[in-house]
Amino acid sequence: MSTMLELQGKVIHEERQGEAYAPFELDSNEYKKKFYIESYGCSMNFNDSEIVASILNKEGFGATKFMEEANLVLLNTCSIRDKAEQTVRNRLNIFRSFKKERPDMLIGVLGCMAERLKGKLLEEEKLVDMVIGPDAYRSLPNLIAEAEGGQKGVNVLLSREETYSDIAPVRLDSNGVSAFVSIMRGCNNMCTFCVVPFTRGRERSRDAKSIIAEAQDLFDRGYKEVTLLGQNVDSYYYTTHDSEEEVTFAKLLEMVAQIDPKLRVRFSTSHPKDITDDVLFTMAKYHNICKAIHLPVQSGSTRILQLMNRTYTREWYMKKVERIREIMPECAITSDIITGFCTETEEDHQYTLDMINFGKYDLSYMYSYSERPGTLAQRRYADDVPEEVKKRRLTEVIDVQRAWSAKNYEQEIGKTFEVLIEADSRRSDKDWSGRNTQGKVIVFPKGDYNLQKGDYVLVKVNKATSGTLMGEIVEVVG
Ligand code: SAM
Ligand code: SF4
Repeated sequence: MSTMLELQGKVIHEERQGEAYAPFELDSNEYKKKFYIESYGCSMNFNDSEIVASILNKEGFGATKFMEEANLVLLNTCSIRDKAEQTVRNRLNIFRSFKKERPDMLIGVLGCMAERLKGKLLEEEKLVDMVIGPDAYRSLPNLIAEAEGGQKGVNVLLSREETYSDIAPVRLDSNGVSAFVSIMRGCNNMCTFCVVPFTRGRERSRDAKSIIAEAQDLFDRGYKEVTLLGQNVDSYYYTTHDSEEEVTFAKLLEMVAQIDPKLRVRFSTSHPKDITDDVLFTMAKYHNICKAIHLPVQSGSTRILQLMNRTYTREWYMKKVERIREIMPECAITSDIITGFCTETEEDHQYTLDMINFGKYDLSYMYSYSERPGTLAQRRYADDVPEEVKKRRLTEVIDVQRAWSAKNYEQEIGKTFEVLIEADSRRSDKDWSGRNTQGKVIVFPKGDYNLQKGDYVLVKVNKATSGTLMGEIVEVVG
């Protein structure tokens, strides 16, 4: 089971799981064939689907939101928890029965499940025609050609270099205001519970110039917010071959922030061990670097953190939170929490509840531990906390977090925030919806102002729920 409180443009968009994509910008090209893609998991996967769309467009495939008219059906999958894989398997079974009526339709699995299960999906379960790992999307055209010729196609080779830096993602289902920009791939951290290092390979950073060029291009096309993506953005490090130019994450943040003061910069995710004072001071220096840090704690118990190989103690994490608040008192902090990891006792669990009270997080993504085959935890430790105990602890964690979310949102009543208008509110096209720098969603009446998506306004908050603020425009920011 996984759950969360609110969705604020953060890593895992559960309301977007399985979303079918169509291009955001009107595409005047005539395509001979159509592809349909559903994405699951983290923002990296959603952004990868935009890279895949770019590769497929060049091959003469246009995107469709309707599976019925597709020649190629793709699922970009997630392996992070067992439930994520089960969801995809259910979808694949639906696709397979659909294929009985449309035998010419090709089905491909992309992403982490492709990497983890490799040929198994093709050979044993005969569910799909193609299996393509996260570093092999450039081989899609060849694999499609092979599959069209009746051969099954697999490429799950992981790479030490691939960053797709030269491929301009096709923005899919975007609001035209905010976009993801991947700055690195893979992960070297080896948290014992996590499958990512096995499915997405070694960490590598993307050429800084290509990142700046992509962010500049987005701004030139009217986008006002970029979220820099990576499993551990703070360990971003790029150097040119002659080592003349070294770019750290703090430097990169600064370079993106300097594109234009009207371009907001967000990033996700930070590993507590790697976020430096340099990054914090850079955030403080630039108004357009949003004051929000996703700093997953995972557990409040030092003993469990050690078993998880998170490389920090409870006290060390708390000092990091204090340092953030010292440098940026207004900065929002959010977290990820796992309940019921191997050997977790009631005392360990209590430490986690205490940590939420210490962190006073605006929001947390909370999960019960799901053992993943091949991970260090699966090989080293017994998954010995009974399912009902994991779930009960998860409920307790959710309750404590929910109380903080409600309190933190309520405290904003009476304050005025700069808000970037992102879309019509979900409830009414007479209201705008946007976010403040902390990432809190604010809904407010459009009134008689002649505003549009991408404009900035000052909004005074007059009401709050535990996930949304409501207010009134007090000033348009020129
Ligand atoms: N790299 C990021 C980090 O370290 O925070 C995100 C990794 S993962 C895509 C997102 C979250 O899923 C993790 O922070 C963790 O809380 C959760 N997660 C990962 N493996 C899990 C597992 N085996 N069971 C339950 N939750 C898990
Ligand atoms: Fe997984 Fe840890 Fe890497 Fe995050 S930092 S992707 S949790 S191994």
